[in-house]
Amino acid sequence: MKDIENTIDSQELINNWEQVSKQVTQACESAERQAAGVTLLAVSKTKPADMIATLAQQGQQHFGENYLQEAIEKIGNLKQRPEGKGIIWHYIGSIQRNKTRDIAENFDWVQTVERDIIAKRLNDQRPAEMLPLNVLIQVNIDNEDSKSGCLPEQLSELITDIKGYERLQLRGLMIIPAKADTNAFARTKQLFEEIQHSHPELNGWDTLSMGMSGDMSEAIANGSTMVRVGTAIFGARDGH
Ligand SMILES: *Cc1c(COP(=O)(O)O)cnc(C)c1O
Repeated sequence: MKDIENTIDSQELINNWEQVSKQVTQACESAERQAAGVTLLAVSKTKPADMIATLAQQGQQHFGENYLQEAIEKIGNLKQRPEGKGIIWHYIGSIQRNKTRDIAENFDWVQTVERDIIAKRLNDQRPAEMLPLNVLIQVNIDNEDSKSGCLPEQLSELITDIKGYERLQLRGLMIIPAKADTNAFARTKQLFEEIQHSHPELNGWDTLSMGMSGDMSEAIANGSTMVRVGTAIFGARDGH
């Protein structure tokens, strides 16, 4: 892993964040959707705690991290600072089986659950004094060998498993579509709604995490409720 890097100054960071926030609002307007229906997740991987503090002070609440050791250091740092108080932390990296405890003990959300064994461990390891861990199932919507995520046809079974876990709150789906796939967003939205209809007992099924720096407007036009934006806010990353 490369060192934490501070590539832009705080004024540029704030400008970028305002631009992205505006882009989200405009995409909602174009799609005739309420701006409140889309959450901006600021993806802060490889970026320093100070940059997170700067945005938190502006009112940015949700931050996403991919690398556990780095994330836990930053979460600890931000907990000590007044700006860090209301931050909601999302884990969006791949999950190794022996790292589930770190996720269960430090995050508010995890967006990359794809197997029951991982969900079960997260449930068992979620501390009793914390709220249930919010969970999104990552779907391999393009059936790519290289991609993580559960296959659409495996979803129903995984949902049934996760539903039974009291320390987890199942919230919805997350995708990272293949570049060439122009209708992955629409297909995932359809999948999301089918599950909503076939599982009316799932209260809290309300989150469809799709869209990143390059395609957030398109994702919002297709029903995304959470866009995960790194580069457009924090600047380029090195080495990831
Ligand atoms: C890094 C990352 C993002 C942000 O990507 P950008 O193109 O920098 O906006 C979003 N989602 C996931 C899962 C990521 O790993």
